[in-house]
Amino acid sequence: MGRRKADFTLTLCAGALILGLSVFGFVGLLGRPAIPWGALERATGISRDLLPRAIVRADGFEIRDRDFDFKFITARHRIGDPIEFVVAKDGRELAVTEPLVLFYTQRRTPVIFFLTGMFGFLVGLGVFILRAEDRRARLLFWLCMAFSSAVMISGEWYGVQGRALHLMPGVLFFFAYALTPVILLRFVLTFTARERLPGGPLLWIVSLLFGGFFSAVLVTALLSPSIQIFRQKTLFIFFRLFFGAVCIAAIVILFLAFRAAPSRERRDQIRWVLCGMIVGLGPFMLFYSLPLVAGLRPPLSEDTASAFFVIMPLALAFAILKYKLLDINVIINRSVVYSLMTMVTVGVYLASIEGLKGLFSAGSGAGRKWIPVGAAFIAALAFAPARSRIQLVVDRAFFRKSYDYRRAVLGFTTAAEKVHTAPDLLTLFSATLDEALPVEKVGAFVPAPGVGVPGIALRSGLDYDAVASLLTAPAGPDGPLPPAELKRLGFESALPLPLGDDGPSGWIFVGPKRSGLKLTDEDWELLRTLAAEMAASLCRIRLQEEVIYERASREKLEELGRLKTEFISSVSHELRTPMTSLQAISELLNSGKADETSLRKHLIGLMAGECSRLGRYLHNVLDFGHIEQDAMRYDIRPTDLGPVVAGVVEVVRSAAAEEDLDLEAKVPAGSVTVEADPDAVRQALLNLVDNAIKYSAGRKHITVRLAPTSAGGAEISVSDRGIGISPEDRERIFEAFYRAPEAVRQDPRGVGLGLKIVKHIMDAHGGEIAVSGAPGRGTTFTLKFPGRR
Ligand code: ADP
Repeated sequence: MGRRKADFTLTLCAGALILGLSVFGFVGLLGRPAIPWGALERATGISRDLLPRAIVRADGFEIRDRDFDFKFITARHRIGDPIEFVVAKDGRELAVTEPLVLFYTQRRTPVIFFLTGMFGFLVGLGVFILRAEDRRARLLFWLCMAFSSAVMISGEWYGVQGRALHLMPGVLFFFAYALTPVILLRFVLTFTARERLPGGPLLWIVSLLFGGFFSAVLVTALLSPSIQIFRQKTLFIFFRLFFGAVCIAAIVILFLAFRAAPSRERRDQIRWVLCGMIVGLGPFMLFYSLPLVAGLRPPLSEDTASAFFVIMPLALAFAILKYKLLDINVIINRSVVYSLMTMVTVGVYLASIEGLKGLFSAGSGAGRKWIPVGAAFIAALAFAPARSRIQLVVDRAFFRKSYDYRRAVLGFTTAAEKVHTAPDLLTLFSATLDEALPVEKVGAFVPAPGVGVPGIALRSGLDYDAVASLLTAPAGPDGPLPPAELKRLGFESALPLPLGDDGPSGWIFVGPKRSGLKLTDEDWELLRTLAAEMAASLCRIRLQEEVIYERASREKLEELGRLKTEFISSVSHELRTPMTSLQAISELLNSGKADETSLRKHLIGLMAGECSRLGRYLHNVLDFGHIEQDAMRYDIRPTDLGPVVAGVVEVVRSAAAEEDLDLEAKVPAGSVTVEADPDAVRQALLNLVDNAIKYSAGRKHITVRLAPTSAGGAEISVSDRGIGISPEDRERIFEAFYRAPEAVRQDPRGVGLGLKIVKHIMDAHGGEIAVSGAPGRGTTFTLKFPGRR
C-alpha cells in the first residue's frame, strides 16, 4: 500500500513537472522570432521567393543549408534583435541589417496548441487519478503526457531565443515526441489479446536514442554555438519515418482489434480511439511529415497540420465519458458542459461579429459606428437558436440516457436505504422505472425465507398459477417462467434477484416499454443494475426483519419468565392468607377458649368464608390452566338462571355474614331459561361479585340483577359503588394477570385471572361481557346470554 501510494504520488509529480515545463515552453513559443522577409524584400529589392537563396551570410554565419541555417539563427535571437544579412545581388554582396519579427502575428496565434495540450494533460491526469491501478490507464496517462507536452511546446528551438534555460522544454520536446508513437503502440496493444510485441524493447531504445541524439544536437549546437552541429538535424527525416511507421502500425493494430472486439461497447470505445488517431494524427502525417520525407513542399503548414491534434484528446475524452473506456464512469455535471459549450459559443459569437464587421466595413464608409451594433444584432439572431441546438446536441451525445440512467440508479440506491419493507421497495422500483424507463407494468416474486422466520414474501402482478409454477419448477434457460406464460401475464422479461447463496432467488418482471420500442443494451444495463440494487436492499430488509423477530422472541420469552415468577409468587401469597386465618381459627376452636356458642358459630362462619374463597381461587387457577391448554370443557344445556343467581347471592351473603355488605338480588318471579352450563355461570358470577366486594371501600352496595331479553336471551348484571375502572383499563382487564394500579392499591390480593375466565365462559356461551361505569363512581359488569337457537 505504502509503495503504491509513493508510486502514485511520484507519477503525479512527474506529470505536474512535465506540465509545468510544457507551459514554460509554451510561454517561450509565444515569442518565437521569424526572419523579416518583408523588410528584407523592401531593403534589397529581391522578391520574397528568391530571397532565401540570395542570402549568403546572416548573423555572421555562412548560409548553406537554408532551412536549417535560418532556424539556427532565429534560435539564437529574440524578436527585435537586429541581424545582419548579406545578400548576393547582381554579382555584388549587399549587407542589410533588419530586426527579427514576431512569428505569431495577430492572425496566427498558437492558442490551439495550448488548448490541445492542456486538454490532453487534463484527460491524462484525470484518468490516472481515477484508475491508477489500471495498466491501460497508466499507459494512457503517459501517452497524454508525451503527446500533450510535444504539442504544447510545438518545436524544440521555437522558444529558445538564445536562452540556455529555454533549452529544457526543447529537450523535453524531443523525448516526448520520440516516445509518443511507442507509448501509443503499447496503449493500442492493450485492446488486443497480445500484450507484448516482438522487438518491443528495441522500439523503446530506438525512440530514446532519437530523443537523446536530437536533444544533444540542440543543446550543443546552441551552447557552442555551432551551425555545423545544428545541421545534423537533417537526420530528423529518419525520425519522421520511424514516427510514421510506428503510428501506422498502431492504427492497423487498433483497426484489427476493432474488428475482433467481443462486445458492442468495446467496439464503440475502440472506434473513438481509432477516429482520434486517424483524424488527429492523419493530416499531420499525410500533409506535412510525409511530403517532407519525400522532399516535397508540404501542402499544409506545420501549424495547420498540428491543429488537428486537438481531435485526439477530444476523441479519447468522448470514449471515456460516453463509452466508459477504462471503466471510467464519471457523471459529469450537465451545467458544466453547458457552461463550456456556452463559452465556446460566445467565442464563436465574438469572432463572427468581427467577421461581419469586416464584411460590412468593406462595403461602405458611412455609418461605421453602427456596423458593430448591426453585426452584434445579426450574430445574436443567429446564435439564439444555435445555443439551444448546442444544448440538444450535448444532451443527445452525452447525457440523454446514460446520464438519466446513472442518476436513476443513484436515486434508487439512496432512497432504498430508507425503505424498510419489501412492498415499499417494489413501489420505489416501479417509480424509478416510471421516471427513467417507462414500462407497461412491473411485477415481482420473492419467496419467503426458511421456516420460522417471518421473511418477505412478495407477490405482485402474478396470479396463483404463475406463483405455483415459480415455486415448483426450477428456472429454465429462458428465465423462471416459460415465454408464453410470461407473455400471458403481460411481461416481457424477468430479472433475477439473487438473495444469498443458498436460498431461492426472487424475480422482477418487466413489461414492454411504453414507447413500444425494444429494450436496448443500455436499458438492459439499467434494469440489471436496478435489480441488483433491489436484491441488495431486500437482503438488508430480510436481515433487519430477522433481527427484529429474534429480539421480539427474546423479549417475549423474558416476559413469560417474568409472568411465571409473578404468578407463582401471587398464587402462594393468595394461598397463604386464607391458610393462616384457617389455622388461627382452628387453633382457637381447639384451645377451648371459644366455647361460647355465638362465638363458635361466628368462627365457623369465618372458616367457611375462607374455605369458599380458597375454593374459588383454586377453581380460577385450575380453569386458567385448562383455558391455556385449550382443555376447558362446558356442559351447556337449558338452564334456568334464576336459581343460579339466587344460589350465588346466598353463598356470598352467608360467607360474608359479618361484613359491611349490602348485597341485593333482583330476580324475576318466572324462570329465565337459556342454554348455559350452570356451574360455569356460577363461577363467573362468583368472580364478578367477589370483585365487586374487593373493589368497594366502606359499606359495600352490590346489586345482582337477572333479566330476560326480548330476543329470548338473558342478562345478569353485577353493579357496585366502588372504585370504578378507567376507560384505558377497560381494554386490558380481560387479559390474564392484568390488574389496574388503582385496584392493586385498594386490595393487594388477586392475580388478575378472574375476568379472563369470565370472558372465556361467555365466549363459550356465544354471549358477551360488557362493562360500564366510571372511576370513583362504581362499576357494572353485564353477562349477556343469547336466546336459544
Ligand atoms: P383480580 O381481581 O384478581 O385482580 P380480575 O381478573 O378479577 O383479577 O380483575 C382484573 C382487574 O379488573 C382488577 O385487577 C381490577 O383492576 C379490575 N376490576 C375487576 N372488577 C372490578 C370492579 N368491580 N371494580 C373496579 N375494578 C374492577
